[in-house]
This record gives sequence, C-alpha cells and structure tokens, in this order.
Amino acid sequence: MRVHLYFYGNVYAIIVLIKSNNGEALHTQEIGKNLYQVDLKTGGFKSLISSYILRGTEIIIVESGPTSSVPTLIDGLKELNLRLEDVEYVAVTHVHLDHGGGAGTLLKALPNAKVIVHPRGMPHLINPQRLWESAQSVLGYVSEIFGEPEPVPKERIVPVTQGSFDLDGGPKLKVIETVGHASHSLSFHESFNNGVFPGDAAGTYFPEFDVVMPTTPPPFYLDSALASLDTLISLNPSFLYYSHFSKAKNAVRRLQDYKLQLKLWAKITQEGLKENQSAEEIGDRIVSEDKVMQRLVGYLRSHRIYSKTALGNSVQGVVEYAKHAKQVS
Ligand SMILES: [Zn+2]
Repeated sequence: MRVHLYFYGNVYAIIVLIKSNNGEALHTQEIGKNLYQVDLKTGGFKSLISSYILRGTEIIIVESGPTSSVPTLIDGLKELNLRLEDVEYVAVTHVHLDHGGGAGTLLKALPNAKVIVHPRGMPHLINPQRLWESAQSVLGYVSEIFGEPEPVPKERIVPVTQGSFDLDGGPKLKVIETVGHASHSLSFHESFNNGVFPGDAAGTYFPEFDVVMPTTPPPFYLDSALASLDTLISLNPSFLYYSHFSKAKNAVRRLQDYKLQLKLWAKITQEGLKENQSAEEIGDRIVSEDKVMQRLVGYLRSHRIYSKTALGNSVQGVVEYAKHAKQVS
C-alpha cells in the first residue's frame, strides 16, 4: 500500500493507492524464486526496458537502466518493501545508456551498493562524457529520453569478467563474458531458477510477438557474438531475462535461433555488398528475407524509440562488420 499526501489549496487530501496484481501503480512483477522484474517505463514507454531484482538477505539489481527511469526502479524496490541500504550490487551487462547509464544516479540512492561491470566499461562509468556525446550523435532524441549519465565513483566499481556473487539466503549470480554486441558485454546467470540475463547479447525480445530481432549496432563483432551465444548455450539455461524485454522460456532454442538469425543477416548483407547495395537497400532485403522482420517491421517503424534504435542501427552494425570480414560461414 502506498500513501500519497496531496495539498489542494487549504485542504489536505490523502490518497491511498492499493497495489493489485492488475493495478497500474505496479512496476514490479515476481517472475521466479527470489526474482522480480521491474518495467522501467522509460520515457513513458512500457515493455521497453527491464531491470531485475534478486533477493536474499541482501539484494542484487541487474541493469540500472537509463538515468531518466531510476526513480521508477527505486519505486519498484519500495513496492517490494526492500530497503535501499540492503542493495549490495548493481550488475550492468554493459554501459550503453539503456543498461548502465543510470548507475551513477542510482548509486546516490543506494548507500552500500557497488556496480559490477566489465573492466572495459569501467572508464565510461567513471567519466561518462564521451559515452554521452557518442550516444547523442547515434541516438539523437532517444538519448535525451534516456537522460545523461552521472559518474560512478571509482571506489564503488567492481570490474570483473568472471566469478560469482553469492547472496546470503538468495541465488548465486555468475558472471559470463559475452562480448559481441559490445566489446565489454557481460551476461549473468542466476542459480535459483537457472536463468540468464543476456543484456543485448541475445537480441531484443518482443513478448507480444514472441520473436527476437538482432541488436547489432556498430561496432558489432559477429564472430565474438556467435561464440558468446555458444557460451550461453553451454550453460543450458531454462530462462532468458531480456533487458528488452522480459522473461522468456525455451532459452536454449532461442539462443540457437538467434545464432541462425545473425548468420542470415550476415549472409544477406554480404550478398548486398557484393551487388553494391546501400545499407538501406540491405535493410529492405533483410526485412523481405527474414520472416521475423516481416512480422515486426510495421511495429518497429511506428514506435518512437525502436524506429530510431532498432532496424537502421542494427543493419548498419552488420554492414560495417561485413565490410571488414572476409567471409561468414
Ligand atoms: Zn539495449
């Protein structure tokens, strides 16, 4: 239950919001043993970015999300009656604004928390200026919706590429290096439900369509991305907890399908480049040859965020990779 006190002229009104499982006031959802999803509703967009909360005696948050929706994440912790001082770690899969951009702002509210990040991402958390400038040039108005990152104090960063973090009375969070989407991408495995948080290493999942599309903006590293997917498959996970967006079962099949989809995009791109097609023409060709994209393209083009971040940027990443690669098997 949440109590809000409003002041209207000279009259106080107390409005009590009762949480319900269907209620609009809820940001959080229990999705497994000791595991909760928070819909960050960044910029007012539902089902765009998730953070996750792992609960033991202490708490680990996976993905701070962007700066602008940190208040929603904090509301989510309060909804679950969790104490901000009990959050021990904020684990970010990578430092892109929609995943780790809010870490600095979030840490101001979490007195005991440290950020888990890949060592190559660490400098961008300490000094986010370059990251912010490049996000502004690549993402345009979307970067403003995400918000400018605030610095994370160096002493509050735990740089790792492997190892695990044990929650007293809760699951174990194992760190897996999964570069490809970025040169500093991590995934995390949680032990209670046998699920993986892949960040963007397994693509973008659209629950309403039950399909995945590549998340491959430049600089994208296809060979590393495929090897990272093999690493995740070798863990034999039951679930994926996508940052975009939500939990999905049949994890291994989805990871295998994603590998095939990346290879299909690379093949189409190579053929397009041989015929001197532009990135835009290659994008059209991908839409016509990838059945998933045929289903998604209308939705993507009408979405204020995805129309900017999804298709064009992902095609561009594969095109730039293919220009440098000799052959993709
Ligand atoms: Zn992302």
